[in-house]
Amino acid sequence: MAKNNYIYFDHSATTPVFGEVVKEINKCFTDIYGNASEPHTPGKRAEEMLVSSKGIVARALGAKPGEIIFTSGGTESNNIAIFGIAEAYKDKGNHIITSSIEHPSVNMPMQWLEKKGYNVTYLKVDEYGMVNPEDVRAAINDKTILVSIMHANNVFGTIQPIAKIANIVKQENAIFHTDAVQSFCNVRTKVDELGVDLLSSSGHKIYGPKGVGSLYIRKGVKLTPYLFGGGQQGGIRSGTENIPGIAGMAKATEIAQDNLIERVVKVTYLREYLIEKIMQRIKNIKLCGHPTKRLPANCNFTIKNTTGHAMVAELDKAGIAISGGSACSSSLLKPSEKLLALGLSCEEAYGSIRITLGFENTAEEVNYFLDVFPKIVDNIRAGNSIK
Ligand SMILES: *Cc1c(COP(=O)(O)O)cnc(C)c1O
Repeated sequence: MAKNNYIYFDHSATTPVFGEVVKEINKCFTDIYGNASEPHTPGKRAEEMLVSSKGIVARALGAKPGEIIFTSGGTESNNIAIFGIAEAYKDKGNHIITSSIEHPSVNMPMQWLEKKGYNVTYLKVDEYGMVNPEDVRAAINDKTILVSIMHANNVFGTIQPIAKIANIVKQENAIFHTDAVQSFCNVRTKVDELGVDLLSSSGHKIYGPKGVGSLYIRKGVKLTPYLFGGGQQGGIRSGTENIPGIAGMAKATEIAQDNLIERVVKVTYLREYLIEKIMQRIKNIKLCGHPTKRLPANCNFTIKNTTGHAMVAELDKAGIAISGGSACSSSLLKPSEKLLALGLSCEEAYGSIRITLGFENTAEEVNYFLDVFPKIVDNIRAGNSIK
């Protein structure tokens, strides 16, 4: 089955694109080609598409359309949020709180801000990858301007207690940003329930196109832009809007929101089945991340006496795509820092794999994987595979 029919289990790296999304994008390329800033009919049609797309993303977040801007992806949304707040609120203070398990598009801006004189606290997580809200309470002070904690982790899937953290952040009048790229359209992400001021998401993690993302900015929150130009999107993000990408992301959001519960139930069931069976069939294997408070699609294991590298390569030969821990670090021969943050040893982190299911995956595909994978692990352990 697998050889001609490749099995894709790497949806946290990126997803395929819904057919209806492709249609919507094509429609924009052919029919809605205007510049949304122009007052003539083609321009107005582009503007209408932009406004209705903001409406769809806003609805998914329980926000208002005026609180949404579109960007070039999750990376840019995170950068705009972090640099924008750091600059706009620098008179109030220079302290920022984040976690030790953030995506590089949060972590690297934080490191840059440290070089510029900001004081950044990186909160540790427990063995399940969970931030303790009490640690936020202990770290926060009247110089804290921003707290940025991801909603769900991209490597091991743990979902953070965002609402509890938000209550603490609010008491100190700091701004709260969450990177919700992995959770948006995969679990509930209503901004008022979460209590966040800024929320980042990305098109290509939700069956939409790459190179487009959104940022929710709560009304009243000030952001200093770092892209200057035509003043599009309220001056926060200058540049002619990418209408095909934006409309594609909105379409993907709409489809996902229409059957969110159904999809979560299906994917969670497949995940639980995969975890249960793999633990029975392979010895010396450990589930990483939280046992229940995790993304519906995420399975992350560390397997003794193997390497993620070898497992990814061997599974690829068997026609199955998975990730060795984190896509962002799997090309480098160093263990994922996110996994080390869970207290894993280097050796355990090396033997790590991430399987992220999609709504289009079937029990048949999972069964095929469960069939071939134990043999692959045996081979690697026996030294029969190239490293
Ligand atoms: C993928 C990802 C990003 C980056 O999004 P892009 O659209 O690829 O720039 C940011 N944060 C998390 C948690 C991600 O998984």
